Amino acid sequence: GAGAPLPLLEHLNPEQLAAVTLPAGHALILAGAGSGKTRVLTTRIAWLLQTGQASPGGILAVTFTNKAAKEMVARLSGMLPINVRGMWIGTFHGLCNRMLRAHHKLAGLPATFQILDTQDQLSAIKRLCKQHKVDEERFPPKQLVWFIAGCKEEGMRPKDVPVRDQETERKVELYQLYEQQCQREGVVDFGELMLRSYELLRDNDAVRAHYQRRFSHILVDEFQDTNRLQYAWLKQLAGDTVDGQLQAPGSVIAVGDDDQSIYAFRGARVGNMQDFVREFGVQRTIKLEQNYRSYSNILDCANALIDHNQGRLGKNLRTTQGPGEPVRIHEAQTDLAEAHWMVEEIRNLVKGDEAPRREIAVLYRSNAQSRVIESTLFNAGVPYRVYGGLRFFERAEVKHALAYLRLLENPHDDTSFLRVVNFPPRGIGARTLEQLQDAARAAGCSLHDAVSTMTGRAGANLTAFVALVEVMHEGSQGQNLRGIIGQMLQASGLVEHYRNDKEGADRLENLEELVNAAESFVTQEGFGRDAVALPLDEQRPALTQSPASQGLDASLPMAGPTESIDAETGETLSPLAAFLTHAALEAGDNQAQAGQDAVQLMTVHASKGLEFDCVFIGGLEEGLFPHENAMGERAGLEEERRLMYVAITRARKRLYLSHSQTRMLHGQTRYNVRSRFFDELPEGALKWLTPRQSGFGSFAPFSGAASAYRAGARGGFGYQPESLASPPVPQRKEAPGHGLRAGTAVFHNKFGEGKVLAIEGEGDDARAQVNFPRHGTKWLALAVAKLTIVE
Ligand code: ATP
Ligand code: MG
Repeated sequence: GAGAPLPLLEHLNPEQLAAVTLPAGHALILAGAGSGKTRVLTTRIAWLLQTGQASPGGILAVTFTNKAAKEMVARLSGMLPINVRGMWIGTFHGLCNRMLRAHHKLAGLPATFQILDTQDQLSAIKRLCKQHKVDEERFPPKQLVWFIAGCKEEGMRPKDVPVRDQETERKVELYQLYEQQCQREGVVDFGELMLRSYELLRDNDAVRAHYQRRFSHILVDEFQDTNRLQYAWLKQLAGDTVDGQLQAPGSVIAVGDDDQSIYAFRGARVGNMQDFVREFGVQRTIKLEQNYRSYSNILDCANALIDHNQGRLGKNLRTTQGPGEPVRIHEAQTDLAEAHWMVEEIRNLVKGDEAPRREIAVLYRSNAQSRVIESTLFNAGVPYRVYGGLRFFERAEVKHALAYLRLLENPHDDTSFLRVVNFPPRGIGARTLEQLQDAARAAGCSLHDAVSTMTGRAGANLTAFVALVEVMHEGSQGQNLRGIIGQMLQASGLVEHYRNDKEGADRLENLEELVNAAESFVTQEGFGRDAVALPLDEQRPALTQSPASQGLDASLPMAGPTESIDAETGETLSPLAAFLTHAALEAGDNQAQAGQDAVQLMTVHASKGLEFDCVFIGGLEEGLFPHENAMGERAGLEEERRLMYVAITRARKRLYLSHSQTRMLHGQTRYNVRSRFFDELPEGALKWLTPRQSGFGSFAPFSGAASAYRAGARGGFGYQPESLASPPVPQRKEAPGHGLRAGTAVFHNKFGEGKVLAIEGEGDDARAQVNFPRHGTKWLALAVAKLTIVE
């Protein structure tokens, strides 16, 4: 007999069960929205672990967003008592970051390399263009960013880019200069994370072999949106290729839906699915056809809509749930009236106990649409949360604070240097900075190092700034993250500056929030989080061969999602560096309203993979959705239609669609025609709240528009200056178990004797800051670094 079925596998339909329990080998799961793809993927991981076919360290799972990765981790820890922190579950960028941290030397990066977000990248490019007197009319910096990102997504270094004309030649030249600048400053952009990690695997046989052996099971969600480079990266991990054919017996499970491919503009290739089947010699393709998410009225709309696309791989979706509510359609006269209608409906839903606020989502095609919805919600006192869009970590004051923190980690980070050298103002003018940049370029050094060549008053001001950073750096020794940030906010003058600023209250609040973000990072991301104890050999995968000389035998799986441990020495990122990495990778999940029951606002792109009881899709107008940039050609229009398909299929119970006759966009009133997508929906599933052809909408208070636009988006969070004024005393707690505390003298195999300055975290997560006279101050993961106490 096969024994009792595992509780894990109950409630799966036969196709899902087959997918979850597939024997090792490559497989493709191709299925429509809401059919349980993600659930199958998560359940398979749990099943592999529970049946002992894999250890946590032997699994690599890639999802599309941080939110999705977190959800997967949460679900897994609900199913099984495992140490999920040891598992490699994350986004492509997150996993690449982790790998590069572990092998930074081989990858040619400094241990403390920093990640440039898109904004940083743009300012780095602008700086470069200025330096090299690039005509910004001919080569707009934004376009260069896209060009470079595009090259990297195709796996191309400057030398690999085919040069057809002078314009491309110049762009390639700038690409190369940009690369040099990043390398000099020790920073990488998102594309670079991916490309470096790929090259690391491609060019280092031992590293590649190590990970190939280690990850016996690779699982990829949202496979339809992988780009060429991501696919190539997966191939490196899966095994070696001969004549285009993968040789390894490993197991890669790719899960996707061609109808939900919505990232072509970022290089996503649906073709990867066909390539995968061919190159991996996939024997099994599983289709899931039962939708568990939505009532049939909603599903009928999705099916009818997507049927207008050509060249689909072909899937059906059915549901056993009844028709449910009709899909409601509303026409408004203005965008503001549309927002008022939405908010009214939302309040009724909440009042009538139809759904809690967090189960209500408002989706829009363009970020610019969120402003009017935000201000209407705000004025009505309805708590809401925005995903993406205005990200917490991208706000100017937060970026300033992060720049100071980054300088503490790496004073040669020129981007950060330039951001805050004269903020708050220190009498360092643009001309001085130009001179400084010239000097740095001539000497081939960082701005920080070039300061010593500057004379006069300008030189004195710059020297004072460098000294300030140095003092802040020293002050951070032995402090915990909260203490470091508190100290920095004071010493940098940021708090003082915003306190004197009439409109600074909001910004001070955000700085306060940064301290909170750090706090929750420390507790949530594993610094001190209770890891479920397992026998050690279960946490660490057995390595059949341990090429110690390559530094590959250490317990890499111990690292959490955003931190990493040097494979050779056990050296780990400082909590500060780990936090900065987190800030660069995290898509703004740390908003003030985090814990509150709030309505969810996001773009359709950001909603992929998520589900909500009630969904509103606004702005369904020609030119907006479908977007004008995409309407010209069939491919563009089809991608818009897939986007609409994604949007519709987020809804479980209720779906509301709306459009407006006029809309304020980019400071102009536009007169709009209803989206063609309405004509592609089945009439029987719809309910028109406003007469179908008429121009009458609901009450439209024009006079309120201007003030609504100006209204701030954030709610009433009192700022408490005291908590910034007196950063808490550094915690010097004694961590039980390892017998270390501040002051303990220790010995490390490579760094020699040193003295413990601070301890953070507990159990497997414990790390110590140790000062080694000959190697400086280092953070070490105690579970990996072999420290002995010197009597
Ligand atoms: P998307 O394409 O939008 O990412 P998906 O195919 O990944 O969707 P899931 O998110 O995994 O779908 O599942 C959709 C919903 O259906 C979830 O709430 C999930 O828990 C539920 N579900 C999936 N399979 C079953 C099942 N066999 N029984 C009950 N509920 C299920
Ligand atoms: Mg999914």
